Amino acid sequence: MQGLMMDADLSITTIMRHAETVARDIEIVSRMSDGSIHRYTYGEAFQRTRQLANALDELNLSSSARVGTLAWNDFRHFELHYAIPCSGRVCHTINPKLFLDQIRFIVNDAENEALFIDPQFIPVIESIQAEVPSVKHWIALCGEAEIPESTLPGLRSYEALIGSQSNVYSWPDLDEKRASGLCYTSGTTGNPKGVLGCHRSIVLHGMAQNMASAVGLTAEDVVMPLVPMFHVNAWGMPYNAPMAGAKLVLPGPHVSDAGSMVELINNEQVTFSLAVPTLWNSLSSYLNSTGASVPSLKRGVIGGAAGAIRLYQDLERHGVTLENGWGMTELSPMGSYNRYLPQHTHLSEADLSVQRLKSGRPLFGMQMRIVDEDGNTLPNDGETTGVLEVRAPWACSSYYGRDDHHHWFNTGDVATIDSNGYMQITDRVKDVIKSGGEWISSIEIENAIMSHPGVREAVVIGVYHQHWNERPLLIVVAEDSHPDLSGDELLDFLRERIPKWWMPNACDVVAELPHTATGKVSKKTLRESYSNYRWP
Ligand code: ADP
Repeated sequence: MQGLMMDADLSITTIMRHAETVARDIEIVSRMSDGSIHRYTYGEAFQRTRQLANALDELNLSSSARVGTLAWNDFRHFELHYAIPCSGRVCHTINPKLFLDQIRFIVNDAENEALFIDPQFIPVIESIQAEVPSVKHWIALCGEAEIPESTLPGLRSYEALIGSQSNVYSWPDLDEKRASGLCYTSGTTGNPKGVLGCHRSIVLHGMAQNMASAVGLTAEDVVMPLVPMFHVNAWGMPYNAPMAGAKLVLPGPHVSDAGSMVELINNEQVTFSLAVPTLWNSLSSYLNSTGASVPSLKRGVIGGAAGAIRLYQDLERHGVTLENGWGMTELSPMGSYNRYLPQHTHLSEADLSVQRLKSGRPLFGMQMRIVDEDGNTLPNDGETTGVLEVRAPWACSSYYGRDDHHHWFNTGDVATIDSNGYMQITDRVKDVIKSGGEWISSIEIENAIMSHPGVREAVVIGVYHQHWNERPLLIVVAEDSHPDLSGDELLDFLRERIPKWWMPNACDVVAELPHTATGKVSKKTLRESYSNYRWP
């Protein structure tokens, strides 16, 4: 017998309708490229979203058009996140910091019909305009007065595009499995691959993420995603904040300027933020060195890469509790979350550090397992490591335009899972160091060295070794307060903290490390530059 419940689709349109009902007067605040502040309400945002939807219809885009954006976190990009999918099209967020070759590949692979471009990125697009024949419309994300000189044919401003449009629009009923958003992985191995989300996956991911056992946003929160919308929808925030009726603060391009972030946090009373470790590091260094404070900021997600316990402790002293969120583009992006639970306050400091660095428990709706090389499921004993596989309604079942199908998705991460369901990433398969047939976890060595007060950033890579095949090399950037930090001192520090056979054979102190377009240390670049390394 079938149940007798309504067949109401889960769509992004329902998030918009809900926010218009419960959060019409709640603000969305944006810091623009020139530093000015733009402020309006969800009610006003969705009026303009309807104007934009009318404008998209007038462009005569195909019914499933992939509409590309190269944009920072601000109100216009927010409007695009609704008008494009809710009118039936696909919002394709492009990371403007990728290499030109990758941007060209992505625009062609997605066959973008229109591109909405922040004026700052117009020169980037001009340099490939002749090689992206599918693009028929170029729109600059600005007012008519700010539109730059450009070779892009028919370039017009966003404000001119929507200005004369009606704010009445009849949103179509959409199948919940209809594609809504496209985001490419950063292509650390080979060409980037497209991950095509749908209305249903966005809504279910948002509901799971907004549960109290996970991110748990409420209407009292003021949410500021430092992670860009082009990095998997700012980890869901343009959808989850309105779902919870929370105020949204969009910081624009100046996210690595910690002083400007602190000012925005304090002026807007931000309670919750999300960022990769590099940005949390710069916030914490700024607070330590200037004596500034952020009393409203209570919690934040640290994700995209593992953070160091020293960073958690440092920010705790400033009243900010960091929570580890693990995920990837293929998971919309969140898979697991490590919420600080009341029972953890009874743990000793050492045990608490171990606990807080775990990658967390799966969100409701996400299944996880670890497997060996033959695909056999391994025990959840907190010790056995295996390749992490996942299954969820918001996990990618196949890449855009490729003929693959995943029943379980192989994440390419190596992990343990304990008896309470806490998962811990120990490495990525491609970063694991294989020394004499044993696996060494680069992340655990990095965590150990990050508790040294002189270390700002640290990374461990496997480098060819004649006898062992590979051995770990530690590469460190020193804090300004420790200009004379030496490799030997750091290796001595590590000796008491990790097993002897994990000990890096050498340590290089360098001025800076290479980062990927999403702000993570690029181990691939480092492995290339150390490919002819001679061990001392
Ligand atoms: P890429 O790193 O290839 O640009 P993603 O942004 O999708 O692509 O990153 C996914 C990967 O980032 C995961 O597979 C995992 O290795 C790593 N990652 C994400 N969050 C965390 C975390 N909290 N701790 C450790 N690693 C993480």
